[in-house]
Amino acid sequence: MEDNNHNSTSTSAMSSASELPEPDVQILTSGGVRIPAHSSILAMVSPVLDNIMERPVKHGSSERVIPILGVPCDAVSAFIKYLYDSMCTEEQMEKYGIHLLVLSHVYLVPQLKQQCSRGVSQRLTVENVVDVLQLARLCDAPDLYLKCLKQVTARFKAVEQTEGWKFMQEHDPWLELHILRFMDEAESRKKRRWRQRKEQRLYLQLSDGLECLEHICREGCTTVGPYDVETAKKPSPCDKYATCQGVQMLIKHLVLCKRRASGVGCCRCNRMWQLLRLHSSICDHPDSCRVPLCRQFKWKAQQKMGEDAKWKLLVKKVCSAKAMSSLSLPKRKREEELKETMGRTANALKTFRLY
Ligand SMILES: [Zn+2]
Ligand SMILES: [Zn+2]
Ligand SMILES: [Zn+2]
Repeated sequence: MEDNNHNSTSTSAMSSASELPEPDVQILTSGGVRIPAHSSILAMVSPVLDNIMERPVKHGSSERVIPILGVPCDAVSAFIKYLYDSMCTEEQMEKYGIHLLVLSHVYLVPQLKQQCSRGVSQRLTVENVVDVLQLARLCDAPDLYLKCLKQVTARFKAVEQTEGWKFMQEHDPWLELHILRFMDEAESRKKRRWRQRKEQRLYLQLSDGLECLEHICREGCTTVGPYDVETAKKPSPCDKYATCQGVQMLIKHLVLCKRRASGVGCCRCNRMWQLLRLHSSICDHPDSCRVPLCRQFKWKAQQKMGEDAKWKLLVKKVCSAKAMSSLSLPKRKREEELKETMGRTANALKTFRLY
């Protein structure tokens, strides 16, 4: 059966080369099977075989014999066939992908190596991934190597139980360390991405909050509106109502808060302050702006010749995300500023009418 396969493969390789002269080289495979081939073709595709062909034939032998041992005979057959027609079937890839990868590396056939790297990476299993990973490292196939690392990371619980992993652990502790390090970094990357996404969501919420604040100060929403706008009937909810309702509750709190009125710090008031200040940092029409304290915050920022770096960064991120976390100014600074502005608060808050 094996031999039949081998014959049909090599025959088809030869038939595509029907205009070629008689084969002038024999490839000797494991098990003693010989595959006839043409030195000119082999030399053209593989620089390593070219090099071998340059060496003088041993004294006394009429034909050159090149041994390719250590891989199954049919794998060698598929390799030689590839040198003729640059084709590798799915079936060959399925059966001999790993061997073809090794052969393409050893004999410097980059197109086949690339194809095998892809083919083998599509056929990775929990059982073979550690072996393929080691092979990819030996054959200098970085794409395949990375794919294996990712697979090991993704299915580590199962991979850890395989013979391949246990063998590698015993014989190549450096590689084990390398893999574990990669997994560690992958975990941090994941956490970093998760944090970034979370931050991005916060910036976006903040940006929406600012939009709602402006809309409340301009025309009013369900429960809060500008003092000079009379509403005959209760305004209906806007299309960002989930956020808008939160901002309205913060405004109501700020107006009614007893802690603020008695000059004590209050975290909900602080949040509203931050929102008002953030608005002022972004607002580009302070003269006609209806948001309370917009001009005062702007004026104060100018007095201080610019705002501190952390705040600037926040403003930038909210603007660009149309998108942080907890508006985190250093606490003491925030409280000082809060006290400073407190005096002006009562007047400014008369801007709001609570329905
Ligand atoms: Zn609204
Ligand atoms: Zn409060
Ligand atoms: Zn403004």
